[in-house]
Amino acid sequence: MDFKERKEARIEHYEKYVKGWKNRPCIACNGSGYYDHNGSPRCGSCNGTGKEKYKPNATETTEKTSKTT
Ligand SMILES: [Zn+2]
Repeated sequence: MDFKERKEARIEHYEKYVKGWKNRPCIACNGSGYYDHNGSPRCGSCNGTGKEKYKPNATETTEKTSKTT
């Protein structure tokens, strides 16, 4: 894999997984990363991070395709 391919892969990853995504406190554990305070397992929803990603503009992606009249 040369530099150009790596760069393209990075851009693709960014477009897919980073761009337009935001973090918010996990709903399942209320941002703590655990279900409760007494040695309980990590939250399965956020994997113990206390955050989850969401895409606020997920429905806008197919909008710009057909505007050539
Ligand atoms: Zn959680």
